[in-house]
Amino acid sequence: MQIVQVARNAMATRFEIVLNGSNATMLRAAGEEALDEIARLESQLSLYRSTSEIARVNARAAFEPVRVTPLVFSLLKHARDLNVQCNGAFDVTIAPLVRCWGFMGGTGQPADPEQLAEARQCIGMSHVHFDDERYTIRFDREGVMLDLGAIGKGYAIDRAVDLLRDAGIESALVHGGTSTVYGIGKPLDNEVWNVAVANAFKPPDSDSIKLPTITLTDEALSVSAIWGRSFEKEGKTLGHVIDPRTGEPCQGAQLATVISKSATDSDALSTALLVLGPEGQIKLKHTFPELRTFIL
Ligand code: ADP
Ligand code: MG
Repeated sequence: MQIVQVARNAMATRFEIVLNGSNATMLRAAGEEALDEIARLESQLSLYRSTSEIARVNARAAFEPVRVTPLVFSLLKHARDLNVQCNGAFDVTIAPLVRCWGFMGGTGQPADPEQLAEARQCIGMSHVHFDDERYTIRFDREGVMLDLGAIGKGYAIDRAVDLLRDAGIESALVHGGTSTVYGIGKPLDNEVWNVAVANAFKPPDSDSIKLPTITLTDEALSVSAIWGRSFEKEGKTLGHVIDPRTGEPCQGAQLATVISKSATDSDALSTALLVLGPEGQIKLKHTFPELRTFIL
């Protein structure tokens, strides 16, 4: 048996794939093809790429319907469904708030109250209109902006996993920036993939809380935490996940993990769970009975 590892930087993070099988050349080719697909999706989905479909929608959709590919259209519709299922906690129209809090290309800063009030007027999927016949997106006001930052990595991992399976891969681990990881099949030496969730607690809390090891088989795990991209204010950690309902960096939990058959869903729902906190666990369990969740 052979083990091959491939990696590439994309979506402002590092994607890595470990593949197990009998033919190293075939494993490497499959891994590189999956990474190519992730890079291609970045150029389609990133709001930071001026030529991406999402950037084009953001620039034009307040003035005219903007046609997108079926892939982007159905991903945005899925994001709309998730928004409803999470009581609004996951919302891809979050971008104006992300910018207000200095997280668009930065590490965060207190928001100006006037700008914040204005940004809050632009939040909500009700501002995004879908034309199912023409595959167009239209915003009903200026200032609306889409950000797939909490779902794009998971989606890219699902598509990469599809390609790996098509290539005959039966054992692989794929992750993007360690925040979403998918285990295909099982590793060579075990019945399940064991994945540890890193404890990023700063002193004095460090070591006091041991996070569980999670087992994955043909499943995805996503972790969202407030201390990733964040700044400190009045003793509070204000992170890059924003509560769309209040306009403030979320305080529902410090860390949220979701395990699902879909990396798209685990990515989006871990972000939602960070916003919702403990009551979100009950809500998500009700809507998605198959989910496993864990929060701090
Ligand atoms: P990471 O990117 O570290 O894996 P997440 O998956 O939780 O973390 O995504 C956080 C990113 O998602 C933010 O940087 C921002 O772009 C976007 N975002 C922030 N708050 C929300 C929200 N409530 N709903 C949807 N997207 C969000
Ligand atoms: Mg996420």
